[in-house]
Amino acid sequence: MNGTRITYAGGRLDRAGDRRKDEAWLAAARARDDVRLVPVAREASLVVERDGAREAALCPADLVDPATAPGWIFLGLDGGAPRFAVDVPDDARAAVAAACGGEFEDLRRVGPLLAADDAALLAYARGMVGWHRRTRHCGGCGAATEPRQAGHVRVCAACGVEQYPRTDPAVIMLVHRAAADGEPARCLLARSPRFQPGMYSTLAGFVEPGESLEDAVARETLEETGVRVGRVTYVGSQPWPFPSSLMLGFRAEAETTALTIDGEEIADARWFTAAELATFGEWGDEGAALRLPRRDSIARLLVDGWIADVTGDG
Ligand SMILES: [Zn+2]
Repeated sequence: MNGTRITYAGGRLDRAGDRRKDEAWLAAARARDDVRLVPVAREASLVVERDGAREAALCPADLVDPATAPGWIFLGLDGGAPRFAVDVPDDARAAVAAACGGEFEDLRRVGPLLAADDAALLAYARGMVGWHRRTRHCGGCGAATEPRQAGHVRVCAACGVEQYPRTDPAVIMLVHRAAADGEPARCLLARSPRFQPGMYSTLAGFVEPGESLEDAVARETLEETGVRVGRVTYVGSQPWPFPSSLMLGFRAEAETTALTIDGEEIADARWFTAAELATFGEWGDEGAALRLPRRDSIARLLVDGWIADVTGDG
């Protein structure tokens, strides 16, 4: 993907997954001087400001008792130093923020402002803490579940079923048609009624049971726009822990061009040339009539990659 680092992916952390069952090693890790906590309070991650830049807050170990549910969740080692995510209870939120000199903020808002490693760390922590909050009961029998393996498994106290942190696959695709017969290359972008005014983005949707990724790309494109696609090519992926998705990015070649919009999931869809996209403003740019998706999204990477290929500016 042109060597571009995808936001929330590829953090420098060594996840050290082989240590999650090693209770003696974990106890020693929790007691180390260089252990740090990554606090998450509901939807918010703790961020500090240093020299005018935002950073992930790494808090001292005495701030959140390891007995606080769901316990410290082992994230991994950063240069050998242990990192644990913690779920900060509502009544401790203000005290933790004050003690660390930071503020709890929604990662979806602050993520694009962080260094890549910090964004990846906070995404991982948020995904893990959110999964624990949503998995307190067994999907099979309804009894309470308990965390195991440093927070990477939850086990049903009644029937023993194990649940693992889940990731839901979603496809996101740049549908395009090559230049032909004097017509320039175009790509298909659409807007949801939920988008900010003027923003157009790539199509996307969740993979359904019994579908391949290619099936999902073709179905979603047809459902949302009426366009049939042929060849589908994988481009790259992005963790999107809001709350638990993995965005799988593709390019799909259009075999038809007529658009049929349902008006509900999709408010509008259009074919754009690279020259037209060059006139678009940035996400959040209120002066621009038409805007690109946010810079931290794989949608934007798909659009930028296509523009670079079409204009020979790769
Ligand atoms: Zn159960």
